[in-house]
Amino acid sequence: MESTMSAPPVPPGLTTPAAATDLAPPKPTTVWARFVQTHLFDYTPASTRLWLVLVGCGALSVAAALWQLARLPWSEIAHIQLGIAFVALAACFPVQLPRTKYSIGVGDVFVFALLATFGAGAAVLAAVTEGLVGACRTTKRLTSRLSTPAAAGGAMWLCGHAFDALRGLLQQWGASDPVATLVALCGVALPYFAGTTLPLMAVIAVKRGERLSLRDWASGYAWFAAISLASAAVAGVLYMNSRQFGGVVIGIAAAVAGAVVLLINVSLRRHEAEHQAQEARIAKAQREAQFNQQRFTASFSHAAIGMAIVQRSGAVLQVNQALATLLRKPESALLGRPFTELLSPGDAALFQRRAAGFAAVGDEAFSMELRCLDAGGAEIWVAMHCSRFADPAGDGSSMIYQLHDITSRRMAEGELHHIAYHDSLTDLANRNCFNERLAEAVERTRLDATQRFAVMYFDLDRFKVTNDSLGHHAGNLLLQEVARRLVACVRPGDLVARLGGDEFAVLLEQLHHPDDALQLAQRLLDATAAPMQLNGTDIVPGASIGVTFSDLGYRTADEVLRDADLAMYEAKAGGRHRVALFDSSMLERITERLQLEGDLRRAIGDGQLSLVFQPLYELEPYRLVAFEALARWMHPVRGPISPAVFIGLAEESGHIEALTAWVIDEAAAQLAQWQRTTPARAALVMHVNISGRDLADPNLVPHVREVLARHALTPATLTLEITETTLMGRLDLALDTLGQLRALGVKFSIDDFGTGYSSLAYLSRLPIDSLKIDRSFIIGMERQPQNVEIVRAVLNLGHSLNKKVVAEGIETAEQLATLREIGVHIGQGYLLSRPLRADQVSHQLLLGEVVAPG
Ligand code: C2E
Ligand code: CA
Ligand code: CA
Repeated sequence: MESTMSAPPVPPGLTTPAAATDLAPPKPTTVWARFVQTHLFDYTPASTRLWLVLVGCGALSVAAALWQLARLPWSEIAHIQLGIAFVALAACFPVQLPRTKYSIGVGDVFVFALLATFGAGAAVLAAVTEGLVGACRTTKRLTSRLSTPAAAGGAMWLCGHAFDALRGLLQQWGASDPVATLVALCGVALPYFAGTTLPLMAVIAVKRGERLSLRDWASGYAWFAAISLASAAVAGVLYMNSRQFGGVVIGIAAAVAGAVVLLINVSLRRHEAEHQAQEARIAKAQREAQFNQQRFTASFSHAAIGMAIVQRSGAVLQVNQALATLLRKPESALLGRPFTELLSPGDAALFQRRAAGFAAVGDEAFSMELRCLDAGGAEIWVAMHCSRFADPAGDGSSMIYQLHDITSRRMAEGELHHIAYHDSLTDLANRNCFNERLAEAVERTRLDATQRFAVMYFDLDRFKVTNDSLGHHAGNLLLQEVARRLVACVRPGDLVARLGGDEFAVLLEQLHHPDDALQLAQRLLDATAAPMQLNGTDIVPGASIGVTFSDLGYRTADEVLRDADLAMYEAKAGGRHRVALFDSSMLERITERLQLEGDLRRAIGDGQLSLVFQPLYELEPYRLVAFEALARWMHPVRGPISPAVFIGLAEESGHIEALTAWVIDEAAAQLAQWQRTTPARAALVMHVNISGRDLADPNLVPHVREVLARHALTPATLTLEITETTLMGRLDLALDTLGQLRALGVKFSIDDFGTGYSSLAYLSRLPIDSLKIDRSFIIGMERQPQNVEIVRAVLNLGHSLNKKVVAEGIETAEQLATLREIGVHIGQGYLLSRPLRADQVSHQLLLGEVVAPG
């Protein structure tokens, strides 16, 4: 076997320093110069010299070999030519070592066989031939094609003579010719190999300006050296056999070698083809894997959603830009950190529990919502999806976390929750929220009676009046201020809620003693009653509070609120601005009241209602001018019920409109009858009381118009009485409704004048005909002289506004005398006449044929 070797290819662009610096080389004149320029262009002068020496040595060895062969007989020369032909043939068909640039051949066996049989000359020619064929096969460069056979020739010339000397010496020492040949061949095999390779490497090393490394040579070519040695040994054995069995052995060996080389080549080619197909498949799979990796990396790093790969240990292995942006931290600040460090401390433990549970169950993924902290420490709500994946590069199983910013959604939810549970005006808890908290408290108390609570129902007194007279905006300001005062009074854990309108509720939990609640209720009253300014008007808000306690054994929140509400109602009924404690009798009273409400509804249509008429007299000269219609209710079971009770009941239960409509109709019918029967008193007037709710009744105006028409009454003979408080409390409605009624020709009187707070500006604008001074001023006139002054002032006011002044509740002759003296126009009272049933009104009375009392 033999090895061929060519100089490693020269890297493109590598030139000798001379060539690199000489930009315009002179045109070579000599043959040598042209040769150098064509073939040795990348050789340094030193390597050129070395190359020349090598080629020279090769040429000399060939010359010496030819000289030696020339003395041999023709028969031997023929054999030698045959041997060289084998060598050339073997060099043409080397066995290419798969996936290396090396090939091995059987040529060396014949080279060594020729050396053993015919001496150094034949071996030199064979070695040169082998080197030449091998170089021609593997390189195009003439320099290599010359230096390779030259090195082989030179090396074989030296080794051939060393072989002769060694064989002779061994034979002298008594070795047989075959043994001496075999040993000597093996002895020169390695030097021969060194001689064929080292000089070539030396030329290359010098050319590149590198040092020749024997270690590289030894490690790089060790196994070629082994083949060379084996070739020598095989050649030795062949020589032995040829000595015993003749030269035909060499021929057989050549044939066998040729066949073996052929078979090996065929087999290797097939193998190589399979290998290349396999390689192609692997390369394709690798390319695919690389693309996948690139795609993954791209989708990871370009994803809009924050992503992190987290190791089993919890450390962050990789993050994408979106996550860094989300957390407002550079990637470097996230890598290697425990993932839980990125979470809000409140959620880190929650997350760890969830992750541990997930790992224990062996699920593949889980999702949760939690808070992260950004670089500034601000909380960011994220929806997180965590899934497991097998990470071959990590510690086995890693997690991929996807984080989606949901802060705005969470904020919106929080906002919605706040809206759902809070009152927008005062920002207190609303009824929903209060009910839920109260239900929880009720439940707690049912389980453990020592968990006491109290509930207060808080209602502003006369809020409607403020709201209607000063406007909604002022009403809102009042509610907000009251809310602030309530919150300022309670303990931190207590709940203050606005149930709606001017109603508030307070839930006191962890209550040790009922007195604590009562003291707090009193504090709330005191705080509420502090004066405040609204739209430039001084207001002293008042409130009524109902209180109830968990000790009553409530089962539902509704029961608690109902009782606190009843107690509050009781506080109002008891004179307002006070606290009332719930007790079971309240429930009875309320039940009774509800019953009465039902009875009243039936009474209106059932003929249980009737009217009495109280005369109004002009005082100077004394004569009847009008009647006031007053409603009476004869309850079939309870007997007469005071209007002070049933009018209020009708107002609260929504029956007042029907009642008013009936009174207007009934009173108008009676007036029409009196006007008919006493034509002289065609101008007789009927006063009818209407309440605040009637002003909002859209049917009032059409009904009055219809009644007047039906009874053919002059509209000016109907006067509607509205209390001052009602009028001022519903000024917007009053202006509209009064305007429409006034257009019909109806007149108006302000009832209970002096008890409300009329503003002069309004009085002059309203279509009022008379002011009815409240009874309380008349009653106190004798004992309280300032009451006389008040009446006098009202009278002056009436004069200046061109309105009549009526005094009601005249019970004594003294009162009447004073009123006459002052100059009050009209009077009404028990002294003048009690309210009369229609059948009690005599013809004389109607004609005015009565004398003034006193
Ligand atoms: P008011 O409009 O101020 O009616 C006058 C009340 O004073 C009547 O009581 C009358 O009987 C009473 N009265 C008259 N003269 C005297 C007197 O010299 N001394 C005393 N102490 N009282 C006197 P009544 O009928 O009980 O009515 C009470 C209130 O009920 C009325 O006060 C009025 O506000 C309301 N009311 C009565 N009837 C009706 C009605 O048909 N519709 C409406 N909306 N309210 C009515
Ligand atoms: Ca009245
Ligand atoms: Ca009155």
